[in-house]
Amino acid sequence: MPLKKNTQPRNLQGIALILVLAIAVGLLLMRQGQGAPALTVSLPVAQASPTPQPPSWQDVLQQQVLANATPVPQPLLPTDDHTPPTLAPINPAAPVILEPGQLEGAAATTAPLALTTRQEAAAPGSLEVVSAAGRGEVSWQPPPMIGPISVDPRDHYWFARPVDSDAVNYGLFYYSFGSDGPDDLWRVHHGLDMPNPIGESVRAAGPGTVVWAANGFRVEQPDGTVTETTYSYGNTVLIEHDFGYRGMRLFTLYAHLSSILVTRGQRVETGDIIGLVGDTGVVTGSHVHFEVRLGQNSYYAVHNPILWMVPYAGHGTIAGRVIGPDGDVLDDADISIIDRATGRVVRTGAAYVRQDINRDHKPDINFDPVWNENFAVGDIPEGRYQVVTRIDGVRVSRTVDVHEGTTTFVELALPHEATPEVPPQAEAS
Ligand SMILES: [Zn+2]
Repeated sequence: MPLKKNTQPRNLQGIALILVLAIAVGLLLMRQGQGAPALTVSLPVAQASPTPQPPSWQDVLQQQVLANATPVPQPLLPTDDHTPPTLAPINPAAPVILEPGQLEGAAATTAPLALTTRQEAAAPGSLEVVSAAGRGEVSWQPPPMIGPISVDPRDHYWFARPVDSDAVNYGLFYYSFGSDGPDDLWRVHHGLDMPNPIGESVRAAGPGTVVWAANGFRVEQPDGTVTETTYSYGNTVLIEHDFGYRGMRLFTLYAHLSSILVTRGQRVETGDIIGLVGDTGVVTGSHVHFEVRLGQNSYYAVHNPILWMVPYAGHGTIAGRVIGPDGDVLDDADISIIDRATGRVVRTGAAYVRQDINRDHKPDINFDPVWNENFAVGDIPEGRYQVVTRIDGVRVSRTVDVHEGTTTFVELALPHEATPEVPPQAEAS
């Protein structure tokens, strides 16, 4: 009994203490609640109200901010329906060569991380117009011409693009064919990477027969010997095409697929869905790695797909050679393609060389049998352009015209084109 008498007052004290604490916490929460609207000033969506009301002080403040301040930059990177692009650059600097103050947008010579759209990649000076729109808006491309075409008999635009026009059907600019990446640290690239969400359709670039359709790419000879194993490719499809080129066999390869939808020995026509974009194998993001192999089915028989894929309607290609002082082609030379009418860099590229990289002294990548190029930049709208690079620190440029569906060839060398001419705007006006 005495125990019970003593406990009642203690319980009352405890309840009182809890009440005081609850009131204190409630007051605290109320104060924070009063402060909360200030946090929503920059979130106009949250201010939506079903009934018309006079503008709130938040609205007025926001209008003043919008009227006086620089607009808040739109996020450049993918909304939730957009998986990150592959191979985020180590050094995001885009290969843009401009003389300080010479051209519009000259200050903006670096591009933001992990670009996936044409506009971002090509024209760093115009980033403000690029917003993170839906996937279709970001990625929509002009329709390719109907292939195969050889408007110029030297050209062989015989393959369709392996990805549809409402997705990314061109290669990442910072890891182009023959490139070893932004800091020259990556493996020389044997194809084009087209970053797309997992599940995007991958289509046959031309008619042919499926030679390989499995995880872990292998080249098996008729006698059963394996002459190539490339596990880093993940789920891979390889097609041998019905046609060759100059007596040489032609193959296309599609790597890192999430699903393979064909089987070995199956016939496919141009545009047939052969698999889905994925991130199998060694990748940092989902994409399809696309290769063109000429002459033999070999890792060392790759050629630049840009010179094989049908261009977009109204677009062409600039290919060429960058010649060093010793007369040899230069590796890693940055190429800028500048529209002479606007002074804007519309495309960039990088030069590549053939290097013996293995015991057999096979070349790592190959130049085109016709063009013998050491760079190629595709998907350029018809028009007049300045092709600019640096050789031994000297700015070298040539002016060329791009025509629909053809390749314009240009050689960049010292010394006869060594110094910058009139700024493009001056000539264009
Ligand atoms: Zn690749």
